[in-house]
Amino acid sequence: MTKDNKMDKVVALCKRRGFVFQGSDIYGGLKGTWDLGPLGVALNNNIKREWWKFFVEDREDMYGLDAAILMNSKTWEASGHTGAGFCDPLVEDTITGERFRADHLLKDGGFEAEGLTLEQIDQMIISVGLMSPNGNPLSKARQFNMMFETRIGATSGPEGLVFLRPETAQGIFVNFKNVVDSMSPKIPFGIAQIGKAFRNEIAPREFLFRVREFEQMEIEYFIKEEQWESEFEKLRQDIVGWHNHLGLSSENIKEYEVPENDLAHYSKRTIDFEYNFPGKGFDELAGFAYRTNHDLKSHMEASGKSMEYIEPDGSRFIPHVLEPSFGVGRALTAVLCEACSEDEMNGEVRTYLRLPAHLAPYRAAVSPLLKNKPELVGKAREVFMMLKKKFGNIAWDDNGNIGKRYRRQDEIGTPHCVTIDFETLGEEKTELKDTVTVRDRDTGVQERVAISELVAYLNK
Ligand code: ATP
Repeated sequence: MTKDNKMDKVVALCKRRGFVFQGSDIYGGLKGTWDLGPLGVALNNNIKREWWKFFVEDREDMYGLDAAILMNSKTWEASGHTGAGFCDPLVEDTITGERFRADHLLKDGGFEAEGLTLEQIDQMIISVGLMSPNGNPLSKARQFNMMFETRIGATSGPEGLVFLRPETAQGIFVNFKNVVDSMSPKIPFGIAQIGKAFRNEIAPREFLFRVREFEQMEIEYFIKEEQWESEFEKLRQDIVGWHNHLGLSSENIKEYEVPENDLAHYSKRTIDFEYNFPGKGFDELAGFAYRTNHDLKSHMEASGKSMEYIEPDGSRFIPHVLEPSFGVGRALTAVLCEACSEDEMNGEVRTYLRLPAHLAPYRAAVSPLLKNKPELVGKAREVFMMLKKKFGNIAWDDNGNIGKRYRRQDEIGTPHCVTIDFETLGEEKTELKDTVTVRDRDTGVQERVAISELVAYLNK
């Protein structure tokens, strides 16, 4: 499988096997939106559940939050999102009117365009003779704000204008005081949130990589200023551990240290964790930034409410913050790309997903060897219900012959297939009574396992 066609294979598999569908498909789609099918939602939920466990439940210094998507518009003025800070440079094809992100067009053409002003972008487009992908001249660049606007209540005036949140982070900052007052956390501590975010991307592209509606998993980790370097390093290592937990190999992850001249004015250090997406190369999977105390300070000034943390000795300060920010869709894409494998088994080429068991949509599939033998089906249903009670995500698969079932389960990443056969019933070899065949997805090796040992075996 070449790198280019691996991405095509993943996208095709996602549609064919019910992981990801184009949003509003029957109406020709809606650009920048995707719908998760039965297996996609299972994988997505597993990623989010594992993240919550990894960063919140398994630690003592993290607090959860679930803030509203709609927020008072003053939030976005204070955070700078209504201004130029949350704009992308837009250019138009002067003939077709099609819109593009100028920095992406330049980057695709092999030119570095990060951090350029609109004037610098215009100059560069002229000096390198850049045309639109349709071969037509481009317009001048202008700023395009990425926030989606909507209206709240029955008012039509400006007072009814609200935005769909473009990040979950601000929901955390505006609740900082609520969490401190209700939970009395000791600094350093973090507030974590998983939720939808919306960005009116000029040119959504590359499957789930750049979409207009997506989910984020974000943490604001509140620290004392003097702690920032040591806490940054600790959290950086935690992020490395998280990507490892997702099964992403270290050679496919790169830490990009954002150069000083490209840092936001309030940030002292930012690392982009990049994944080597097939056919695309290394690009941002997650961001990690030291944002000083810029956000809390801005909200304190704009709201007039104190964002100070008070130490037991009475001293007060506005905490500084470290922000790890993950996109669920990008994580899901990386996990699928990493897992998508091809090999030859029994003389046939097979495509399968080598997903870690804790992420796979189904932990195991249970089959009766033959579906027209009631005694096999009855026993298989018993095993199925027993495993389902324990794990929840167990598939029942009695379609087609056993070889076809294995291929189908391999393709959706089910780590083990459990088959109930005549030996399970103990009719001939009594020593094999109440044992089943368990087949391993990656090796195809089959083992005989006692039903009473099955849960422990699958948990290995
Ligand atoms: P990019 O430079 O790729 O536009 P960004 O730097 O604007 O990303 P952040 O604002 O740091 O992204 O958002 C944090 C995370 O949210 C990103 O690392 C990414 O995983 C995810 N994310 C951001 N924008 C999108 C999008 N349009 N579609 C899917 N995921 C996104």
